[in-house]
Amino acid sequence: MVSESDRKVLGQSKLFRHISIDAIEEVLAECPVHALASGDVLIEPEQENHAVFIVLEGELSVQLAGREAFEVTHLGPGECVGEISMVDGQRPSARVEAAGPARVLVLGHAAMWALLNRSHGVAFNLLWILSGRMRDHNKALEKSRTRSLEFEHAASVDVLTGLHNRRWLDETFARMLRRCHNDARPACLLMIDIDRFKQFNDTWGHLAGDAVLRHVSRQMGAHLRPTDLMARYGGEEFSALLPDATLDEALGIAERLRNGVEWSSLTLGESGETVRVTVSVGLAAARAEEPLEALIARADAALYRAKENGRNRVEPA
Ligand code: GH3
Ligand code: MG
Ligand code: MG
Repeated sequence: MVSESDRKVLGQSKLFRHISIDAIEEVLAECPVHALASGDVLIEPEQENHAVFIVLEGELSVQLAGREAFEVTHLGPGECVGEISMVDGQRPSARVEAAGPARVLVLGHAAMWALLNRSHGVAFNLLWILSGRMRDHNKALEKSRTRSLEFEHAASVDVLTGLHNRRWLDETFARMLRRCHNDARPACLLMIDIDRFKQFNDTWGHLAGDAVLRHVSRQMGAHLRPTDLMARYGGEEFSALLPDATLDEALGIAERLRNGVEWSSLTLGESGETVRVTVSVGLAAARAEEPLEALIARADAALYRAKENGRNRVEPA
């Protein structure tokens, strides 16, 4: 016999929505009701499950088992669990335990199929529950995909300037350089360093220095071609790879970039004062099959000479 209060919960349960409990009473009467204490485990991953459980009282906690289990959801009276593993006969993927004292109706395999055979309504409700689970699953997948894209983005972008970082540079510059080598196209690399930046920080403060790094990044970006790649190499150093540029073309671009930084100014927020900085640029044209590291080293050596020769200038390797 199903008690009056249980009957009421079942009448409002997802599985028996719009179903007359009287019509299925015969099957339900055969189904045991389990009383659970807090922490009692109902379903465990890797343990076969042959029943659907309907919560009559209390709450169940559904946890995803990983290295550290974390709770996905809580199920209250009228909700059910176990239907996926019962239907497909596969081992469950979640762990379900009582969140406190609880009572559940156990619809065993035989009872469940008897209900499905007897009632279109129950079969329909089960489909509806399963498709809801699928939707939740898809939503969770979508969310985790978005998060992993966000992580990926965060790992390759420098937060201060919004430019790509060194990690991205190593991978992407190398790939682009290889492509140029393969197609026998020219490519040039620029190493760009802000002049006397330590002195700038000492004079204007580190925050003003940060603002200059952002300002210079924007300025340089404005003088590159859409196909050029640029990244923050580290500190106040930047690097740009110019595919399809001959040494002469790259010299022209580098000179424009240097000039653009020299003649642009930045107004500081706090003091309202206008400041300017200059950059020195070392430039190297890729040799046949030259690896990225070697190309960077040559551009770096040229940058060193640009500093030695007075700064605010472009020096080819
Ligand atoms: P040079 O013309 O020879 O390049 O002189 P420099 O002072 O620019 O070069 P140095 O390598 O001596 O100093 C670089 C300075 O850049 C020191 C460091 O405080 C500053 N710097 C590096 N990263 C950041 C940053 O993220 N923010 C700020 N504000 N300063 C930075
Ligand atoms: Mg430097
Ligand atoms: Mg510097």
